[in-house]
Parts: sequence; structure tokens; C-alpha cells
Amino acid sequence: MKRQRGGRAIFPGSFDPITNGHLDIIERALCVFDEVIVAVLINAAKQPLFTAEERVALIKRSCRGRRRVRVDTFSGLLVEYAVAQSAGVIVRGLRAISDFEYEFQMALMNRRLNPEIETVFMMPAEKYSYVSSRIVKEVSRLGGELSGLVPALVQQKMHRKFRPTSTRGRDPGP
Ligand code: ADP
Repeated sequence: MKRQRGGRAIFPGSFDPITNGHLDIIERALCVFDEVIVAVLINAAKQPLFTAEERVALIKRSCRGRRRVRVDTFSGLLVEYAVAQSAGVIVRGLRAISDFEYEFQMALMNRRLNPEIETVFMMPAEKYSYVSSRIVKEVSRLGGELSGLVPALVQQKMHRKFRPTSTRGRDPGP
């Protein structure tokens, strides 16, 4: 069956760093929407591993060739950013029941702030359902292998962050 695509959606998050779970959601969103803006939240209260610029660069490299994906940063209210971008939909990923409570709360608050912006939840492939930026950072910090769970570039960059003096592998650039 041919599906009709439409509209612009925002996929917001910390993306510290982007994982294959995020990429799975982006691919699914591209099947439904004309354009997907991957929006990196700049949150002064959080201490990220990667700077906002580094996170944007990693997302751009990971999404290279996907012409309908745009990468941006934002701060402040997400619904205000969505209006400024003329996007009617917020996409979020749902991995497990544990995500549900927080996501439900956020979606309803965003609806209260702007009833015209709809939140849509998408489920990743099961193989990514246990993947989070937090857990991949933890595994990388301890020297574990992550191929298949994050893009190769992300794995290399994390390795560099945790072992800055290591000479293993060539730095592939930003
Ligand atoms: P945030 O701090 O906003 O939760 P994240 O970068 O952790 O930022 O997540 C951004 C979005 O991506 C969230 O909707 C989250 O549920 C979703 N997400 C994160 N990891 C995965 C994954 N493995 N599969 C599907 N969705 C995911």
C-alpha cells in the first residue's frame, strides 16, 4: 500500500550522542513526514559529554545523504520552537514502559502550552529498545564494544573523549 507523507516534524532531544535507536526513529519519521528537523536541546543545567556543536556534527555525519533531514539546536520552550519552524508535530521515541510516564507528562504539558502541536510516538526496532545515550556512554567509558548500537564515528569519538591520549584509530574529523 502506498502511504501518503506530509508535513514537517521535529525530533527533539539531547542526542548526547546520537545512537542507532535515534537513527531508527528518524528513518521511521521520514516515512511519515516530508521533513524531519532533528533539534538538539541546549540545556545549561546538564553536563553533556559532547558540546552542542559536536552533537550537531555527529548527527549531520550520521544522516548524510538524507536530504529531508535538517539538524538544528534550540533552547527554551519546544512548542515555541516548533511554531517558529512551522512544524505541527513533535516526534518522540518510546522504548519501554519506563519511558512512558515522563513522555506522557511532557506531551500533555506541550499540548496545554499549544494545543495545535501534536506529539507522535514511534517505537524503534526491538534490537534498539535497550539502547540509550546514557548506557552507551557508560559502556564506552568502561572500554566496551558498541558496534551496531551507535554509528562507527560516534564510537570513535566517544573513545577519544574517554581516552584522549589513545592513538587507536584515525580521527575521522568532526
Ligand atoms: P532527552 O533528553 O530528550 O530524552 P534523548 O537524546 O535521550 O533526549 O532522546 C531523544 C528522543 O529519542 C526521546 O524521545 C527518546 O525516547 C528517544 N530515544 C532515545 N533512545 C532511543 C532508542 N534506542 N530507540 C528509540 N527512541 C529512542
